Amino acid sequence: HEESASLTATLPATTKCGVRITFFANIDFKEELQNLTASGGEGVGLFRSENLFTDGTKVPKESEQYSYYIDMAETIAPMPLDIRLFDIGGDKLIYSPVREPNPNLGWRGIRILIDMPEILDDQIRAVIRANVHGNIDILIPMIISLEEIHHVRKVIDRHIEELSREMEQQIDRPGIGAMIEVPAAVEIIDEITRHVDFISIGTNDLTQYTLAVDRNNVVVQDLFEKFHPAIIRQLHRVIASANRNHCRAMICGDMGSDPLALPFLIGCGLRRFSVVASDIPNLKSLVSHYTIAETEELAGECLTLNSTQAIKARLETFQAAH
Ligand code: PEP
Ligand code: MG
Repeated sequence: HEESASLTATLPATTKCGVRITFFANIDFKEELQNLTASGGEGVGLFRSENLFTDGTKVPKESEQYSYYIDMAETIAPMPLDIRLFDIGGDKLIYSPVREPNPNLGWRGIRILIDMPEILDDQIRAVIRANVHGNIDILIPMIISLEEIHHVRKVIDRHIEELSREMEQQIDRPGIGAMIEVPAAVEIIDEITRHVDFISIGTNDLTQYTLAVDRNNVVVQDLFEKFHPAIIRQLHRVIASANRNHCRAMICGDMGSDPLALPFLIGCGLRRFSVVASDIPNLKSLVSHYTIAETEELAGECLTLNSTQAIKARLETFQAAH
């Protein structure tokens, strides 16, 4: 039985009506790539590059990053590798020189990268140099404005130009994606999806920032609810905007691994999921039980419901029927 399960896992997943759904893996370290194909992953949707910081504080050198990224890219080519720029600060590595009273609302992600150009320059250069197979994309964490996207794009373009000159050949620009994980990004989603190659929805932070519930605070953990109507409606808006503007959409937050959320997200128009590799086989087998029409009907109904409880109950009914 186990053998047949792993065999199915490596096949492409399609809905009952034949629509392809792609599953990528969230990776913290390159060693995890060994399980990628066996689990049925079709690439890396999220590499959390901040894990390269040694002792949680020491910035990895450009040469170290280059070796690490090229090794990953080569191992999985031609499958895609989405490298998220260092998401330091907040609940992750504490990089701030000052003690921040609210680190999650503080100096974090893209904010640090913009303020410390040498860190951003080194990482961008390492990524571009490692992209010899053309399978690397760059994902920007904690985006709240178009200006931040433009800033990173300019830095990328400058290094493309410099490296092309140094290497005497035209180098391709990696795709640029924005993490959608702050409500501000949801509000300006149409502008964002017109300016990037792809978006990746980070439901862990999106839930935290939308509901004002610290993702790591046990006192309020019962309020950390990804099926809250506010989240459900945001997800629908974000995915619809991406599809309208021909921008690839992916989910990389933990919600993408939840079997209850799966038909809802497909019904919203999502076709790409990045999840913990070990969750892929089960998710793939679930997909084959749904038609797009019934997931769309489910999503439409969930959008009209006004409580977490009602949304979960509707999703549970759907799950039981499949
Ligand atoms: C998220 O916020 O949902 C996400 C995928 O990023 P991280 O968990 O690394 O903050
Ligand atoms: Mg996040």
